[in-house]
Amino acid sequence: MEKMSILGKTEQYAKGAREMIYCVEDERNIRELLIYTLETTGFQAKGFENGKELQKALEEEVPELILLDIMLPGEDGYSILEKLKNNSVTRNIPVIMVTAKEAEYDKVRGLEGGADDYITKPFGMMEFVARVKAVLRRSSRQVEDRELRCSDLYIKVKRHEVWYKERKIDLTRKEFELLLYLMENKSLVMTRNQILCHVWGYDFDGETRTVDVHVRSLRQKLGEAGNYIETVRGVGYRIGA
Ligand code: CA
Repeated sequence: MEKMSILGKTEQYAKGAREMIYCVEDERNIRELLIYTLETTGFQAKGFENGKELQKALEEEVPELILLDIMLPGEDGYSILEKLKNNSVTRNIPVIMVTAKEAEYDKVRGLEGGADDYITKPFGMMEFVARVKAVLRRSSRQVEDRELRCSDLYIKVKRHEVWYKERKIDLTRKEFELLLYLMENKSLVMTRNQILCHVWGYDFDGETRTVDVHVRSLRQKLGEAGNYIETVRGVGYRIGA
């Protein structure tokens, strides 16, 4: 009952103003405690049992921070971290590794893999919240929005916005990732397989035709700027040659 009333209070915070934090933790009690603690300190939080659930959620919304347990059933936290850091959309999300392992080895491995901080179970909730806030402060200072340009077409990477001249263009998540990938590799020809692998992930069991279909819809939405995407016959696509 007590829990419900506190959770009810957090609903009064303005939606959207609160930062979203994703928690990947297979132990239900810990996961619920983390979410409860975050929600009662003014954050929004969602919990996931494994990397698959996290991936699905990332398709919908990119959070401000991810708490990532290392020991998970199936794919472990290190592997999930690696995927996050290899994807242009999720690369800049700060990650705190949460683990029961005390060994120095794990700490080094997590930080070298691109994690922003590291917290060892068991930890107190005060310390936990302080760490979360510290990482969020650091990341908001660091990540000035990166802008990628191709003539009058530009992407505000962190805001996930695409602009052509003074007009904002709405894209689906995959169209955005596709354009971002081409822009990051400006003037280089990207093969269909490279695009498929990067935008849809290495587990994706799709056909290269998927890429063509998305390029077509992307071009349509970009209008005039769609001409910036060049088809290189028999190879793939290139932007800004
Ligand atoms: Ca675990």
